[in-house]
Amino acid sequence: MAESSYRDSISLVDKAGNRNWVYPKKPKGSLYQGRTWFSIGLMLLLFGGPFIEFNGHPLLLLNVLDRKFIIFGIPFWPQDLPLFALLMMTFVMFVIVFTVVFGRVFCGWACPQTVFMEMLFRKIEYWIEGDYKAQQKLDKQEWDMEKALKKGSKHVLFFALALLIANTFLSYLIGFDEVKKLIIDGPMQHLGKFIALVIFSTVFYLVFAKMRELVCIVVCPYGRLQGLMLDKNSIVVAYDYIRGEPRGFRKKGVEQNLGDCVDCKRCVQVCPTGIDIRNGTQLECINCTACIDECNDVMVKIGEPKGLIRYASQQEIATGKVKRISTRSIAYIIILTVLVSTLTFLLVTRKDVESAVLRTPGLMHQEQGNGLVSNMYNFEVVNKTFHEQQVELVILRPTGATLKMVDRESAMLTLHEDDLLKGSFFIMMPQQQIKANNTEAEVAVFSNGKLMKRIVTNFVAPVKQ
Ligand code: SF4
Ligand code: SF4
Repeated sequence: MAESSYRDSISLVDKAGNRNWVYPKKPKGSLYQGRTWFSIGLMLLLFGGPFIEFNGHPLLLLNVLDRKFIIFGIPFWPQDLPLFALLMMTFVMFVIVFTVVFGRVFCGWACPQTVFMEMLFRKIEYWIEGDYKAQQKLDKQEWDMEKALKKGSKHVLFFALALLIANTFLSYLIGFDEVKKLIIDGPMQHLGKFIALVIFSTVFYLVFAKMRELVCIVVCPYGRLQGLMLDKNSIVVAYDYIRGEPRGFRKKGVEQNLGDCVDCKRCVQVCPTGIDIRNGTQLECINCTACIDECNDVMVKIGEPKGLIRYASQQEIATGKVKRISTRSIAYIIILTVLVSTLTFLLVTRKDVESAVLRTPGLMHQEQGNGLVSNMYNFEVVNKTFHEQQVELVILRPTGATLKMVDRESAMLTLHEDDLLKGSFFIMMPQQQIKANNTEAEVAVFSNGKLMKRIVTNFVAPVKQ
């Protein structure tokens, strides 16, 4: 059999094409402990996120339906779409740079899928059904009271957790206040939200009870892009084949020409995606570090140094030399710096009030009597803050022009949070001051006394001798 024959199949599917259910051994070790504490912090943040408020609003809101987004307290309205798109591009670029240098550290330590799967659902499974061998035995045994009780209680707890996650997810989408209304008023008052909640809960339940590692391997686009992003200098969970090979069981008192790997396969047993990391970096590896802990334990027992499986780049394993930043990484870092600078500039110079003025299409000039000629304009002002804004439209030029609102007395407008106001106004000129058929006009938009924008438009009227 060719040495790389493992590439012809994936660990999750048997020869007949059926799924190989993965029963990972219960992990233990210092990295697992570190991940547990890190996950507790992350889960507190994730579940507490919808309750954290800034200026009376959620710190994070991703309301796709109403196109309202709040990222770390900064509101983005539909008018901010280009800015929001740039923010997303910067985030994607950051993820790429991070991945090129640090591999899939995010997947193993911070991805909500891994955190929930390994730290909540898997722990419940170990608690109720026992370690991997007990789970295998339970699955093989005939249905009896013990199996029904264990399976039943596990799935009830799984669905309860899925429901909690779905509520949290919905709170990020529409805000906690809306979810609270659904809970207090009951489903019939908010049928749409209730259906969304049922769908999310079912999806989360299926993801964590049934799909599991398939999400990372088949569904997650980030996982599938690893091949494009990683290079031989990226840090990954790697097996040191120089030190470990040739692998083999060590016989006491027998002189053998073997490497440090005793071929105990404990690194394979503990892997939640069912792979053998000794075959090299694979798409299925989510860098959970469980195999590092397991192998370190073996190394301690046989009196060899830890780190046969460790965080290292392919280059480091092959040559023993560490080179963290490749030319590709430098190019990505330059692009990221440009994106971050542009984004920072746009955020800092972002105005509280967005405005637009357009000459009313299809209308000629109007003779107003008493020697005045007018043009009509449409305007739109949007308050992009959470505070009330007093917006004023002021005519700057041409000299002698005046501004008169249509349908309202004053050019001072009050805009509440997230308000959009549309209307029309006239620019009026004394006939004798019109010296050209087409004159440039300029309107200033002030908000709370601060100049927001100067808008240049045209004033069109015939010159009369
Ligand atoms: S746990 Fe370590 S020693 Fe055991 S098979 Fe895996 S790499 Fe080899
Ligand atoms: S190979 Fe190791 S790090 Fe990768 S998923 Fe399996 S146990 Fe986790």
